[in-house]
Parts: sequence; C-alpha cells; structure tokens
Amino acid sequence: MPKFYLTTAIDYSNGDPHLGHALEKVGADAIARYRRLRGDQVHFLMGMDEHSQSVLQAAARAGVSPQEWVDRMAARFQDFWQRLECNNDDWIRTTEPRHARSVTELVRRIQRLNPDDLYLAEYEGLYCTGCEEFKQESQIVDGHCIEHPTLELVPTRERNHFFRLSRYRDRVLDLITTGRFRVEPTIRRNEVVRLLQGGLQDISVSRLRQPWGIPFPGDPEQTVYVWFDALINYLSATGFPEPGYERLWPADLHVVGKGITRFHCVIWPAMLLSAELALPTEVWAHGYVQWEGTKMSKTSGTAVTLDEAIERHGPDALRYFLLREVGFEADGNFTWERFDERYTADLADGLGNLASRTIAMITKYRAGLVPSLNKPTGLDQTARALLENYSRAMAAFDLRGGAEAAWALVSAANLFVQQTAPWSLAKAGKDAELDEVLGALARALGRLAIMTSPFIPAKAQILWETLGLEGKVAAAPWQAAQQPPVLGRRVSRAEVLFPKPASV
Ligand SMILES: [Zn+2]
Repeated sequence: MPKFYLTTAIDYSNGDPHLGHALEKVGADAIARYRRLRGDQVHFLMGMDEHSQSVLQAAARAGVSPQEWVDRMAARFQDFWQRLECNNDDWIRTTEPRHARSVTELVRRIQRLNPDDLYLAEYEGLYCTGCEEFKQESQIVDGHCIEHPTLELVPTRERNHFFRLSRYRDRVLDLITTGRFRVEPTIRRNEVVRLLQGGLQDISVSRLRQPWGIPFPGDPEQTVYVWFDALINYLSATGFPEPGYERLWPADLHVVGKGITRFHCVIWPAMLLSAELALPTEVWAHGYVQWEGTKMSKTSGTAVTLDEAIERHGPDALRYFLLREVGFEADGNFTWERFDERYTADLADGLGNLASRTIAMITKYRAGLVPSLNKPTGLDQTARALLENYSRAMAAFDLRGGAEAAWALVSAANLFVQQTAPWSLAKAGKDAELDEVLGALARALGRLAIMTSPFIPAKAQILWETLGLEGKVAAAPWQAAQQPPVLGRRVSRAEVLFPKPASV
C-alpha cells in the first residue's frame, strides 16, 4: 500500500475558525477520504500554530496565561473540525514538546551542515502583525499589507538571525519548473515562478527577546521566528529527528491557502534543502471563500459564522457546498441564496429523492429485496464512464470535478427512473424488466454511496446501510464502486437523507 501523507496549514489561535478555514480542512479531508478508498496508507495531519505573538494579546485580554489560551482555542478548533467530520490521523500543536525538539534539531542541522546559511544581522523593516512577517515593498499597497488592509504595519528594527534564502533561489526555481517539486494549481505555480525570477532576499528567522516561542539554538536571547517554527510542524509530526520518521517524510501533499505560497513553495523547500532533507512532493494552494466578493478573514470581519453555516443544512451539506460551489482552486463566492438552491436541487431533490424513491419501489414491488438479476443496463454504462471522470478529477485534487461526476450520476439515475417508469412495469406485470431496472438503480445508489463519501461522509454511510450493506462505506474496497455488492440485499426503510427546510 503506498503511503500518502497530507497536511493542512496550521491555524493561528487568535480567534474562531471561519468558512475560509473550513474550506481548506474539508477539502483536505475529502482528498484523504478518496485516497483511503483507493487503498492508500493515508496519514492526515491537522493542527494549530500557537507561537504567534497575537496569542499574548488575546490571552491578556481574556485574563489567562498564553498556554491556557492556546489550549482553549485548540479545543474550539478541534470541536469545529469534528463537527465537520474531518477524519485526521494526527493533530499537532506547536507548543508540544515533540515540535520544539524538531525545530531545535532542524536549526542545529542547518548550523552543522551549512553553517553559512545562518548569520546575525541588523534588520529594519515594516512588520505585519497579521502575517507575523516583515513586508517587502511589493507586498505593500497604500501603506498596508495586501492580506491585511485594516492593520497598521509596525516599523521594527532589531538584530536577528538571518537565513540565506537568496542562495536557494536557483535550485527551488529549477525544482518547480521541472516538476520535481510540484506547485498547483497552475495559476499559483506561475505566481511562485515569477516571484523566484524576481530574486530573493534573505529573511530574518528569529526575533529578539520574545516571551513566547521556541528559544533559538545557541542563542537564548533570540526566539525562533513564528513562521520558521510553524513550517517545521509537518516534519515534527513524523517523529523527526527520531529514527523511523522517513516512514512518513517527505509529505506527499501540503494543502494551504493561496496567501501563504511564498512560505510553502519558496521558504520551506529552501529550509529543507539547507537541512539536506527531502522535499515534499506537492503543494496545493486553494483560493479564498468570498462573502459577496470580499475575502473572509478574522481581521476583515466576518459576515457569517461557521456555526451558522453548519446549522443551516447540517455539516454534510456545508462540506458539499464549499467543495462543489465555492471550489478548491480559485476564489469562490458563498451566499445563503446559492447554498439554499444547491441544497434543494442537488441534495434534497437530487440524491435524496433518488434514494427515497428507489428504496420505496424495492420495498413496494420486491418486498425490500434487491433483485438478484445482474444484467448491466445503460445506466451501468453511464456510471462506469462517470466513475472514470470522477477518479481522474479526484486524483488531480479537482474536487469540484469529482463532485460534478458523482452528481451527474444522480441526474442520470433520476432520468432513468422517469424513462423506465418502474410503476408502469409493475402494473403491466413485466417482472424481468422491473428486476433489471430496480437492480440497476440499487447499483447506482451503491456507487453513489462510495463516490459521495468524501464529500458527505455521514449521509453516504446512511445510504450504504439503507442498501443493506455492512461496515463502513469509507472502508469499502474500490472494487465495490465498480461492482456494488447489492444483489439480494435487504433494503431498510429509507430515512430522508436531506429534509426540505420549511423556509425553502
Ligand atoms: Zn499581513
């Protein structure tokens, strides 16, 4: 079984997660679920970035210690991710001892292997407290950080340890353009390539006398800069530097937002090259969730809370909407109107209706038993073609394409019901034809339970059980999507998968 180690960005513990965070986590979770279906040995990591200096202010405001504050926030984030059915294998927090040990060792490794890569120098620049980063001219618009137009940049001058990032420009550029280190989607790769072509400046990797963070090895006056610290979490979670960490490292996929590609596609590979460690295979940089055209973030204010969005139609519906409508590539819009429309059309009237009418007909005409006749129909042919489209899209992390293929099968199956009119076949006593039709519909539902499980895991499980199938659909062998084992199964009374809300 090939291993597949994937990660999401770790989040700052300065406020509640919003829809933007949720898009990233459910997208990565859908990828993890798909790879598990394909038989990969998946290791899915999520976590928290807890050494941000903003933690100190947030903790002071709340009247608790920084550690109490991050403990509280970690619990809140985890609660949200559990509600959204994120099935991660590990949860890392940068305040954990296992992480501090890895950070210390990575810096020592650079000091040992490439001592010229770290040097002390005076730094003067404008610091964005939102990004926790010194901003260069090109990243400032109208005197503000591009990512944080509502925050003031702080003029800062201090003596820091610097990382010789400039030395790695040519190698990182070469690795990206030759595809040995993949950056996707293409629009993000082009941005990163342009950035590298423009040249790189060395970066400060420590801050002087910060009360919160990991001490810089060999210089206790300095603290490891929060971003340098945070990136290493992907390595810490493998057990690095303990023997055996190579079982997971290098990561197969880092899922991040498009605003932090400079860290993940330029600085992180350079750090690893300097430490003479293997590079991750790929970085996937998704777009932002927009609310009426504006980026959603903690600092720009949120028009909708994650709570409200989950409550609207339940967690599965939110997962589906984010991945199908907002999308995992470019920026996408979130509106209640489109959410309600998609819920009704795709989930209640689409998949929900297909499931309830199919189960009802098998119950009524065949006493609840799926006919044992296995005769492929046109619907099976359509399903096989769509399953191929689905696999191709999911393998390329095109989650919208995967959802489109699955729901194209929903439409095809609903059309098949209209065209074959099983109620007329029953009335006319055409038993063989009715068996054929009901069998084909049961197989379509079996396939759909598998194909939709990365998007709507809880509802897919209910559908699976309704068909009389045992175990977890998430653990079903991929072969079951080709040939669903539904023949002769006893279906159970259909639960309404997606009830129509009274207001819609
Ligand atoms: Zn910023």
